[in-house]
Amino acid sequence: MKALVYDGPREVHVKDVPDARIEQSTDVLVKITSTNICGSDLHMYEGRTGLEPGMVLGHENLGIVAEVGDAVVKVTTGDRVCLPFNIGCGFCRNCEEGLTAFCLTVHPDPKMAGAAFGFAGMGPFWGGQAEYLRVPFGDFNCLRLPEDAEDKEADYVMLSDIFPTGWHCTRLADMQPGNSVVVYGAGPVGLMAAYSAMIQGASQVMIVDRHPDRLRLAEQIGVTPIDDSIGDPVEQVLDLTGGRGADRGCECVGYQAHDPQGHEDAAMTMNRLVDSVRFTGHIGVVGIFLPQDQNAPDELERNGKIAFDMGKFWFKGQKAGTGQANVKHYNRQLRDLIHQGRATPSWIVSHELPLAEAESGYQHFDARDNGWTKVVLHP
Ligand code: NAD
Ligand code: ZN
Repeated sequence: MKALVYDGPREVHVKDVPDARIEQSTDVLVKITSTNICGSDLHMYEGRTGLEPGMVLGHENLGIVAEVGDAVVKVTTGDRVCLPFNIGCGFCRNCEEGLTAFCLTVHPDPKMAGAAFGFAGMGPFWGGQAEYLRVPFGDFNCLRLPEDAEDKEADYVMLSDIFPTGWHCTRLADMQPGNSVVVYGAGPVGLMAAYSAMIQGASQVMIVDRHPDRLRLAEQIGVTPIDDSIGDPVEQVLDLTGGRGADRGCECVGYQAHDPQGHEDAAMTMNRLVDSVRFTGHIGVVGIFLPQDQNAPDELERNGKIAFDMGKFWFKGQKAGTGQANVKHYNRQLRDLIHQGRATPSWIVSHELPLAEAESGYQHFDARDNGWTKVVLHP
């Protein structure tokens, strides 16, 4: 089959690889029809993760069930399904509690929790930027879509990651109707966090970035854009909130935070959030903090240590929630919002390309070229 393979930093190629196939009786094989490029793919693409060449990327997948294993009972051939980016077993202690991003069964390393398609450090599972995808524990991981699946494919494919991840960020921040919310990062994830806050009845939503095209998109859905290239974003948030700060904050940038001049500081957005959010306010953190020291012997130790101002965070009595989104936990509800016309996350899509043009999609999205907000690939 054809697939997008990681061959090294900024080297991804569409080429022939062995066909994905049923390996376990609980597997489902999906013929992929839509698969997105994500900001998380850029961690691998930019060579920051030490991923071994050969991995098929792609964790935001939707398609048609082509084959099911002998032990699969719910999903059948021909079903249109969306796949959460994280792979859960459905029966471990964490999955039972809805914490499917921290599944204790699927990752082959017993010290790790959580597994994902096409991702460094998240198990050996190939991704879906390919013609076919093997889905472990298919009954649990396939979200069946209603009869409008084909018409609303560009909406439903956002259920695989960024819509639930943006939503998760607002839940980690315990956002309540009437709250003011500031989001750092107007990439696809930040835009979906802002959108989720709007849908859930925030009184005021602000978003910080410096790319005019991304800020303009946010403005179109009623979010107040804050351009950090024309002034201190913290001061702008304080001005907009009567000096008090926002009730809730969302971190949607991660360790690759930089200032408008391009100087990197992985702790920048966390420290700005503490300053932008009011005393006793809450902060959700979905931006990823990835390896700073790729040579550390232990997988968890390789994770990012940042110069976060714990003292100020403590003094302000704030709370924070972190981590990967438990996509499965939100999937059915968000699917039904789309089905009923109450949510249309496809407004984020800027480009739809055949899989054969994936390399150029990666280049443009990685460069954050004007207008390249979210790329959907069609194998
Ligand atoms: P992206 O790289 O397209 O967007 C990041 C945005 O942040 C860019 O528009 C960039 O200009 C902006 N930015 C950079 N520095 C900034 C700063 N100092 N202040 C404000 N904005 C700044 O990526 P994305 O797809 O939107 O993903 C965002 C993050 O979320 C990534 O770290 C990604 O890996 C992570 N993510 C997490 C989950 C999860 O489950 N927790 C899921 C998907 C993605
Ligand atoms: Zn993603």
